[in-house]
Amino acid sequence: MKEKPMWIKKAAPFLLKKSLGMKISISDEEILPPSVIQFEKKILDRLTLLFYEDIAINGERRYTCLLCKKSGFTRKGMFRHLFLVHREEVESELVDVVQEAFESSRK
Ligand SMILES: [Zn+2]
Repeated sequence: MKEKPMWIKKAAPFLLKKSLGMKISISDEEILPPSVIQFEKKILDRLTLLFYEDIAINGERRYTCLLCKKSGFTRKGMFRHLFLVHREEVESELVDVVQEAFESSRK
């Protein structure tokens, strides 16, 4: 397995919550390196696309995990599921997105 940068551990739950639109009491600057903050939007979009899907049923949002296809999660439940079950995948994906973003910004 490839080495992950230190900030990923804290950033994974933080970015997951953020992409799900959950309340967060800490700021970007406390969690993310400045070089990563500039790519935050890209990272959040990617998390949304790859890890979950939300649909409205009777006006209520329900989430489906795209990794194992479990469905019916509330927003909080979705976060807990991804964090507890798929943390490794989420962390490696974060590393990849950031790396790609860096590379494409250097072109
Ligand atoms: Zn899952």
